[in-house]
Amino acid sequence: MAPQECGAEDAMKVKPPLRIVLCAPRGFCAGVVRAIDAVEIALRLYGAPVYVRHDIVHNEHVVDSLRAKGVVFIKELAEAPAGDRPVIFSAHGVAKAVQEEAKARRLFAIDATCPLVTKVHREALVHHKRGRHVLLIGHPGHPEVIGTMGQLPAGAATLISSIDEAEALEFAPGAALAYVTQTTLSVEDAREIVAALKRRFPSIQAPPLEDICYATTNRQEAVRRAAAEVDAVIVVGSETSSNSQRLREVAERAGCALAVLTANAAAIDWPRFSGVRSLAVTAGASAPEILVEEILDAFAQRFDVAVETQAAMEESMVFPLPRALREA
Ligand code: SF4
Repeated sequence: MAPQECGAEDAMKVKPPLRIVLCAPRGFCAGVVRAIDAVEIALRLYGAPVYVRHDIVHNEHVVDSLRAKGVVFIKELAEAPAGDRPVIFSAHGVAKAVQEEAKARRLFAIDATCPLVTKVHREALVHHKRGRHVLLIGHPGHPEVIGTMGQLPAGAATLISSIDEAEALEFAPGAALAYVTQTTLSVEDAREIVAALKRRFPSIQAPPLEDICYATTNRQEAVRRAAAEVDAVIVVGSETSSNSQRLREVAERAGCALAVLTANAAAIDWPRFSGVRSLAVTAGASAPEILVEEILDAFAQRFDVAVETQAAMEESMVFPLPRALREA
């Protein structure tokens, strides 16, 4: 090849520089690791098929790879056949009626509800037993919210999802009230709604410990710090993942003009990133690290990347397997 041809080719290969800040912590939390481990261990111990009620966690990659190993995802318990096949409840938790149905049908139920969701269930029950009406701050229709509401008899809890709804509540200022929250809310949104509740109902009982879980809080703090100093933020996660959606919102609120939630590298709208010279990357609590790696590779094909990790804090949380599997 002639020297001048070589130079032209090289010039065409010049990639624009891109500083990538990898947020830490990001990705899988202890509750997600436990739920996926529960399914994989059930497959090993009992063989396929293993039934899982709802997506074990909100991530298509995880769900598809488990389906390929012999997991059958069902919407309702009625779809699970009678017999000895394991039926696993997802990390989001289930209503009491679902547990009772499994018991009545003598299904081999394995409860992979995250212990931090179970903690919220217990708080709601304690408040109810003490005669308090429970206000659940959460997103309507989310499986965790359906499960938490379903711990209590109909009418014993009210779901609110905004300050406006908190302002519109029709209880007397001295009413016996308590609040609990979904574990994956925006820390800031929840703070504002709680402030409205406390102003309107000064004697309202609060959770002894924060209900928004450590993983949600830490991932939001990490992306908030990084978002303030970059041109764009990518959150790896599914549209259905509440904590991933919140990460994108937190990045926007921190002042980042281009904050995008993407399921994987193939879904990236590349022209939007053409002028970006610094990028923060994080992942929701249900997004596997392999998806982050694919995205870094995809950027490296288009940019001259320099990757650095920015750790907001360390995490060491580990949850034991569900009891049924520990005993097995
Ligand atoms: S995001 Fe929080 S509550 Fe949900 S599974 Fe993970 S640790 Fe548990």
